[in-house]
Amino acid sequence: MGRIRILSDNVANKIAAGEVVERPASVVKELLENSLDAGATEFRLDIEAGGRRLIRLVDNGSGMMRDDALLAFERHATSKLSDVKDLLSIATLGFRGEALPSIASVSRLVLETRTREQQAGTTVEFAGGKLIRCDEAALAPGTSVTVRDLFYNVPARKKFLRSEQTETAHVASLITHYSLAHPAKTFLLRHNNSELLNVTPVESLKERVFQVFGSRILDDLLDAGEHWRDLAMPPEPDEAPAVRRFRLRGFVSNPQVQKLNRNSIYLFVNGRLIRDRLLLHAISAAYHNLMPPACWPFALLFLDCEAEEVDVNVHPSKTEVRFRHSSVVHDFVRDTVREILIAGRPASRIPAVSPAQPAAGLPYSEFTQNLENLTLQTPIGSAAQAAAALMNPSANPSELPEFHLRRPPSPAPRFDFTEVLTPAAYGSKTAVPDTHGPVFSEAMLPLSANLDSLRDLRPLGQIHDSFIVAAGRDGLWIIDQHVAHERILFEKVLSARGNGAVETQRVLIPPVIGLTAAQQIEYARIAGELESLGFETEPFGNRTIAVKSAPAGLAAADIEKVIFEILEISESELRKTSLDDLRRAMAASIACRAAIKINTRLDPAKVEWLLRALAETSCPMSCPHGRPIALLYSTREILKSFHRI
Ligand code: ADP
Ligand code: MG
Repeated sequence: MGRIRILSDNVANKIAAGEVVERPASVVKELLENSLDAGATEFRLDIEAGGRRLIRLVDNGSGMMRDDALLAFERHATSKLSDVKDLLSIATLGFRGEALPSIASVSRLVLETRTREQQAGTTVEFAGGKLIRCDEAALAPGTSVTVRDLFYNVPARKKFLRSEQTETAHVASLITHYSLAHPAKTFLLRHNNSELLNVTPVESLKERVFQVFGSRILDDLLDAGEHWRDLAMPPEPDEAPAVRRFRLRGFVSNPQVQKLNRNSIYLFVNGRLIRDRLLLHAISAAYHNLMPPACWPFALLFLDCEAEEVDVNVHPSKTEVRFRHSSVVHDFVRDTVREILIAGRPASRIPAVSPAQPAAGLPYSEFTQNLENLTLQTPIGSAAQAAAALMNPSANPSELPEFHLRRPPSPAPRFDFTEVLTPAAYGSKTAVPDTHGPVFSEAMLPLSANLDSLRDLRPLGQIHDSFIVAAGRDGLWIIDQHVAHERILFEKVLSARGNGAVETQRVLIPPVIGLTAAQQIEYARIAGELESLGFETEPFGNRTIAVKSAPAGLAAADIEKVIFEILEISESELRKTSLDDLRRAMAASIACRAAIKINTRLDPAKVEWLLRALAETSCPMSCPHGRPIALLYSTREILKSFHRI
């Protein structure tokens, strides 16, 4: 090994670039964050060849004076931090002063900038980190950064770039994310001159969601509103107990929306786009027993807290954060999302965009990607192929970046359905004169219904002795009698267990169950849990147990099956999951066995009882395994199908 030398800035920048600039999307992220920090409200991004050939971001932010424009390319030159103390409470997106020098070291970069106060602007040009020129120029206020030939001088890194389509999709996904975080700002993205995203300022997040994803998605989303919570932080040895304020807002999807990967989860912490395992876990925990395991919802969530509660300086590209009190944050997010779901009680719709059943090798068919499909309707040049390539099911789903194409030109978003639309307003849609009775107006019809309607359903009958059909104020309902009862029993078992009030029944002839050695070990460990759920068991000779009583409602023939199922769950899950999850899994197993089966004729009183009891549950949306319970064919859909609106 040779003598130690200090690296030249140029080499140091290239090393830093290795961390900060992984691909075109990372350049875009740094540029976009700089523009946001500069107070810009308009972001116009052009890319060519997936960003390899060209990335240009034009903003209308503060701009820079000549000296600053040069200084910005010095290593660790930043206007955003001055003291180490500032690191504890970072309010800007950037703070390290590394991005511009890093990008300049691996590309040909031109920065054009002008402040509002100055008459003339400045053009600065770099190639491979070397300053080529710095001129005065006539420019509009704001900043434009043009990055050409990314990695032209780092062939090793260039090799790691994926296809043009993939890189474009990453850029599109990124700018889509930021556009969601800033509804009041303009975002434009063009790839090889075709427009991929173009959103103009709107007042609410809801309208921005509409612009980006289209209107149908809104029917599947619950508006989380704004949840403020003052949370007590666990006391630290030498600190006074603190209360911190947290806020969660945004949208989460109805459990009917089930995705194969986490790509539809958009998380922002203090306005910063992040990928965070802790928060992802909290979201999935909120959907526990509402969605099949390994499925993910759509979520667009903004978590805000005091800057001191979160360390953003833990990852080179600042996409990860560390919370000072992570379990408090985790539980806040989980509980809030769950509250939103329970309060919303969203109904699953017919025609359902429902989870399709397993298709060739995939746990759920691609159909579950309905939200992406929605945004992929418009064929726009190679970008659409990019999207198609990304949707290729043979690709590893976890690697697929999100991709949202611009929607086909549609009439201006309309959220106010209180305006009464006469049939005439529908033009060609009402070409067939309606001579039969009252005119329906869309205004009278709710956009989406919730399961509170279960309370006043009028049962009409059963289909196949399995599904209850009922009329409600918002349409026609079909309820799966088995999963409905399963949900009722599941919640009943859990709450009875919590109160120590489980209903049990003595078994006339106690079944004697033989266990394997492994089952015997599990049994010894969870005998207490079994008892608290209503199974009174007793060892009966070598590796055999007798079951003297069991939870009420469980048929004698099912007792053995449930016990085996529980032992199996315990074996496979106990070490991995919490005791709470184990209890839920046990309750789900009992509920499933004890619930009314399909192919069972029910008398009207039983049907009434089932609907009422279902209405009383806190989550009548899905059974504990995640299947929908009730489907609504809404009056709106019915009228549409009959061409009445
Ligand atoms: P950081 O964002 O961490 O401060 P950068 O290298 O990304 O570091 O940028 C260096 C500095 O250049 C910033 O602190 C800011 O003062 C200035 N700057 C960069 N981009 C812009 C922009 N679009 N508008 C105004 N100033 C900018
Ligand atoms: Mg920056």
